[in-house]
Amino acid sequence: MYINGEWIESNKTFGVINPATGEEIGRVADGGQAEASQAIQVAHDTFKSWAATTAYERSAILYRAYNLMVERKQELAELMTREQGKPLKASLNEVQYGADFLLWFAEEAKRVYGETIPSSRSNQRFMVLYQPVGVVGAITPWNYPISMIARKVAPAMAAGCTVVLKPAESTPLCAMAIFKILEEAGTPPGVINLVTALDPKPIGTELCTNPLVKKLTFTGSTAVGRKLAQDAAPQLKRVSMELGGHAPFIVFEDADPVHAAKGASLVKFLNTGQACISPNRIYVHRNIMDKFMETFSQRVGRMVAGNGMEKGINIGPLVNEAAVAKVDNQVQDAVSKGATVHAGGQRLVDNGLDQGFFYAPTLLGDVTSDMLIYREETFGPVAAVIPFDDDDDILAMANDTHYGLAAYVYTQNLSKAIRTFEGLNFGIIGINDINPTSAAAPFGGTKESGLGREGAREGLMEYLETKLGGFIV
Ligand code: ADP
Repeated sequence: MYINGEWIESNKTFGVINPATGEEIGRVADGGQAEASQAIQVAHDTFKSWAATTAYERSAILYRAYNLMVERKQELAELMTREQGKPLKASLNEVQYGADFLLWFAEEAKRVYGETIPSSRSNQRFMVLYQPVGVVGAITPWNYPISMIARKVAPAMAAGCTVVLKPAESTPLCAMAIFKILEEAGTPPGVINLVTALDPKPIGTELCTNPLVKKLTFTGSTAVGRKLAQDAAPQLKRVSMELGGHAPFIVFEDADPVHAAKGASLVKFLNTGQACISPNRIYVHRNIMDKFMETFSQRVGRMVAGNGMEKGINIGPLVNEAAVAKVDNQVQDAVSKGATVHAGGQRLVDNGLDQGFFYAPTLLGDVTSDMLIYREETFGPVAAVIPFDDDDDILAMANDTHYGLAAYVYTQNLSKAIRTFEGLNFGIIGINDINPTSAAAPFGGTKESGLGREGAREGLMEYLETKLGGFIV
């Protein structure tokens, strides 16, 4: 744990497991409510002096951290692959994505412009300024163990907030690594605090109920986000929530089916499907289905699962045993209700893969709305393809979910692209684009996918309070 600028050991520890091999790769301190409360007090005591630093000072720290992260990209990526499992190349990309947030918010820190507003009264002046909200409680997931921290901690620091972070129990080593970088970059003691723990609940409760915490920012499942938002509600704490998704991926008849299938295979299997923006329902117009499936099956068939440290691996393990069981349950359910298996469809156990949590890259055709996979987030390497016949139905089908994070559309028809973009009830829409994300662009969902946005200018506003001054002169 890292509290008030000190690395703190504990007699109580828990192990971190490499999901590709089942081996323990480290042990970290197991904190609880007492440590969370102590960290919150420290963050509160530090807030005043940190908020009083200039934006230029805060920016300089973030910029140094950005440089350190880029210099140590290889080392951080190797740690990430060992701890989280994604192939090394994907880890390198993620470290860069995390660094991008440090750079972006180093720049944005200097652009927290206020406003003057004309009044209808001649002797009145309005002035609006933005001030940091205060102590921020942050809870982050394991699937993107560095970038999800960077995209909360960097804007909080840029705004002048102090932070208490609880990282996911399966990836605390990546959290420690980014904290070490921020420490080395010159972050003063008490500004950022880290409480690692095996059981997230007591810390979640403390972050939600301690009145010194003014804002809670969470990335994880909708179920946990809902619970945390409820716990934070009595104090009307500000909350940002990045939750689950159930992305539709629509391929219209006029799209190039080969190009669309390549896109689907790339984005669906990213991080072994363990991404909240992963396509969960791939709707393909029936007239181009055969061509689409031909390319898609070839691509999925060529994917190689294994330890991400080895060359040529493009599918890593799932996070744990429960994730394998959930994915397999969705596949079995779909098959029992008539889905066709074009690739994969089972757990991988040969060549030592039984030591880790591997599931075969799987392609299912003829998926229908009565199957679990049509409603539940998959979070695994299973692509579910659904034929459609009528363009008039597709918006309603795609929007028929409680989730509203990402959606993807393939079409060459400009008016169809614009109409679909406008009609989809999702926060992020890729039109012929499988990677509509960037530190510069607002990321977040509608409906039960969350509240607020991360990245972009909006990602900084989440940590600022608006203050209006009315002056009679
Ligand atoms: P996933 O299903 O993707 O693992 P979770 O929502 O369970 O997502 O986990 C995301 C983060 O939320 C992790 O840091 C985890 O420790 C934390 N978390 C899980 N349950 C709780 C809880 N009851 N209170 C606070 N934090 C929690």
